[in-house]
Amino acid sequence: MSNQNLSRRGFLLATGAACYSAAFKSNEAAEPVRDANQYKKLDCHLHINHKDRSIEDTIKHMDATGTAKAFILPLETGEGGVLLRTETVLHAFHKYPDRLIPFCQTDIRQAEVIERIRAYHLLGCRGIGEQKEHLPLNDRRVEAVIAECDELNWPITVHFQDDKNGFNQGIEKHLETYLKKYQRVRIIGHAQSFWSHISADVPSPDKTLYPRGPVKPGGLLDHLLGEYPNLYADMSAGSGFTALSRDEDFTAGFLERHPKQLLFGSDCPCSDGRGGNFNGVCYSTRLQQFLLRMVKDEATLQDIFYHNAERALNGTA
Ligand SMILES: [Zn+2]
Ligand SMILES: [Zn+2]
Repeated sequence: MSNQNLSRRGFLLATGAACYSAAFKSNEAAEPVRDANQYKKLDCHLHINHKDRSIEDTIKHMDATGTAKAFILPLETGEGGVLLRTETVLHAFHKYPDRLIPFCQTDIRQAEVIERIRAYHLLGCRGIGEQKEHLPLNDRRVEAVIAECDELNWPITVHFQDDKNGFNQGIEKHLETYLKKYQRVRIIGHAQSFWSHISADVPSPDKTLYPRGPVKPGGLLDHLLGEYPNLYADMSAGSGFTALSRDEDFTAGFLERHPKQLLFGSDCPCSDGRGGNFNGVCYSTRLQQFLLRMVKDEATLQDIFYHNAERALNGTA
């Protein structure tokens, strides 16, 4: 960005949008260009072998999307369509320790799962996720890993999907119980049934997992994010983008109400940061452009792109 642009941006920030439109109405070209590259970014949701992407190509995806760091989330059971072992994530972390933040995940129906998680902690893992197995949210084994994260002062990224073949079903009944009972763990909410609850009316998950159209205020997400600073929202993938883009007037207020709990993330499987091997869509760049347009406050934008994930990671809410 040139100095001229910088000073113009400073001027606009100082004077506000109303004054801006009066001063520059006749000159549309004078509108400042906000470039995503001027913000430091931490992708809170990235896998490695999505569509067989290699470790190196995952780093290339980060470079191409201007992403400094990423939480790398294994999925050991493969139940969600991607199989990524924690050992692969640790291997990648040892190759790129300044870029990758390793999470762990393992089959929580197996015996000694807590011992394995403690071993991953000693090996450098920083959280659990993506927690995505065919178990209801109130299953005692799901609770056991949440309790362990509370003990370790860790975050856990949970995939909420309420249909019959989904994962961690029962967000409406059971998430608040965990948020109340375990206040040290940071629960990072992800996926369709998390984001469906941006609205107070949620269609049956068997009808659609991606509701569209106007949001009815008073949804579960506003309630829980408002009450519990230990809850964070992972904006990645089609689920996050669909929910945030379905009613921009509502989203503008939602972003203002929860500026410290929203996390930029992609879950992007594309090969190159430009949608390669994925129908020309890159979830990372698409969300970046959306946030640049929607979040007017500079400090909030930087929080969403980076600092909120850092606080979720370190427990410095
Ligand atoms: Zn994922
Ligand atoms: Zn991408």
